[in-house]
Amino acid sequence: MLFQAILDNAPLGIWFLGLDGRLRFVNKTFCVAMGIPEERFLVAAHYVEVLPQSISASCIRSDEECMAQNGPHQSQEWLPFADGKDHLLEITRVKVLDRDGLPIGLIGLAADVTQLKLHAKQMERIAHFDALTDVPNRVLFADRLQQALAHCKRGGSILAVCYLDLDGFKLINDTMGHEAGDQVLIEVTRRIKATIRSDDTIARLGGDEFAVLLQGLRAAEECSTSLNRLLEAISHPIEIKGKLFEVSASIGVSLFPGDDLDADTLLRHADQAMYSAKQAGKNRYHLYDAASDRRARSHHEFLKRLAIALVTKEFELHYQPKVDMRTLRLVGAEALIRWNHPERGLLAPAEFLYAIEGTTLEVELGDWVISTALEQLEVWHRAGLPMELSINISARHLQTNDFSWKLKRKLLRHPHIPQGSLQIEVLETAALEDIPRVSETIEHCRKIGVGFALDDFGTGYSSLSYLGRLPVDTLKIDQSFIRGMLHDKGDRAIVQGVIALARAFGRRTVAEGVETEELFHALVAMGCEYGQGYGIARPMPAEELPAWLEKWNRAPFR
Ligand code: C2E
Ligand code: MG
Ligand code: MG
Repeated sequence: MLFQAILDNAPLGIWFLGLDGRLRFVNKTFCVAMGIPEERFLVAAHYVEVLPQSISASCIRSDEECMAQNGPHQSQEWLPFADGKDHLLEITRVKVLDRDGLPIGLIGLAADVTQLKLHAKQMERIAHFDALTDVPNRVLFADRLQQALAHCKRGGSILAVCYLDLDGFKLINDTMGHEAGDQVLIEVTRRIKATIRSDDTIARLGGDEFAVLLQGLRAAEECSTSLNRLLEAISHPIEIKGKLFEVSASIGVSLFPGDDLDADTLLRHADQAMYSAKQAGKNRYHLYDAASDRRARSHHEFLKRLAIALVTKEFELHYQPKVDMRTLRLVGAEALIRWNHPERGLLAPAEFLYAIEGTTLEVELGDWVISTALEQLEVWHRAGLPMELSINISARHLQTNDFSWKLKRKLLRHPHIPQGSLQIEVLETAALEDIPRVSETIEHCRKIGVGFALDDFGTGYSSLSYLGRLPVDTLKIDQSFIRGMLHDKGDRAIVQGVIALARAFGRRTVAEGVETEELFHALVAMGCEYGQGYGIARPMPAEELPAWLEKWNRAPFR
């Protein structure tokens, strides 16, 4: 009784099968689950008469294998259950022997492992697929790439590993929210899938980065056709909730054979090449090439280092005094940036400014210069030093839409700085790039009391008509002419010409690079009003300026 109850209620299918194929016992759990009454099992001459035909062959085979071996026999079978669904059963069969050691039949134990199997499948999916876009993730991509490489080596075709990073995605995410960002990623995935062939692989590596594996290419040209199609497909505007978004992709590509390496290196090289594509202006692809990519990478790393330097306050401004050459009085200073590099020491702008040209850091650093200079200017004015301060601003920064507005806001934070104390120097060559735009910004800035100087004047071939249209107050004569003017007639004529020109247009002149007292007096004789140079003072930290001034006022040039 008790044994019967135990057998019937065990959460397993349990049966005993005779050598003739007739069931001598089958428990209630199994009968109920299968929806077959116990009697039907027991009266059947062979149990397969009761089971669906589709599974009888494999069941009989398992029975036979069990009888032929010692120890338990395990198998998995899908069986149709009474609930209308197929369930996966893990069946353990054990041969039963009589006292003489002769087989009399087998015991079957069946456990329902359907849920376990489903769960394992889900885990497998999570481990290998991206949840948002439902395409392979980095792990599965690496696996596919490995297989593709082996295939390629045997078949002799070409394989391209593409590393794809979206341009402008961060902006969408930041301004429109993550939901819109997710929609963009889903749509981009859909477009990539629609563009590549069925045996190619797309994977999402994370964020807005994807990898695409192009297989079975016969020539490198075939690859470029596919890449152009990809770029084209991605760059069409994407509509989300009635709004159009523009994204594009920068793609780095490494080829096998050619870039004859393992899967990891191929992907890494594609990643590096992607940076080159970004640097070359985005919305394009770049084929990996060892030499140029090393250069691009070191440039990229240098830029990252500069961005860090801004955060960790490694930049400083030094100030070079500017004097009225007729009265010898200090009138102001020019702020010149320095990088106080922890290992390399104090670096001049020529050693790092080139690297940020055209990057967002150019504007960020320029903003820092403005803020820092204004703070210093306020300190001087509060200390009773009525100085002018000149700052150097790059043309690109000057041409940003909100330049004058941002400058105004910054000035409002320093009410102690009198109007006309701040002057912006822009390179003559840069100002000529876009005269209407630069003039407009200059006008806006002049309205808030900020003056302008054309720096390195004489190097930019300004024609008289241009000069008339640029509303600047000051021309800074380039130091190359000043340095040469004592022995070079041509340089002397240019300096003379600029001074006359400035006078005719009502502009001030500042001579740069006044290295000696002799030059100083020659310039005064020629009618130049202001001067700056090593002969007067080198650029110095703000703290040193009062001591220099005291010395200069007591005994200039000594
Ligand atoms: P610049 O605006 O024409 O500045 C004059 C440069 O000549 C400075 O070099 C200054 O140190 C140097 N100098 C001054 N007097 C003499 C002299 O008597 N002899 C010689 N040989 N040189 C003299 P620095 O500081 O290396 O700056 C170089 C350039 O870097 C600047 O030329 C300017 O175009 C740029 N720069 C400097 N600071 C900034 C900045 O904060 N922002 C931007 N955008 N550019 C800057
Ligand atoms: Mg300057
Ligand atoms: Mg200059």
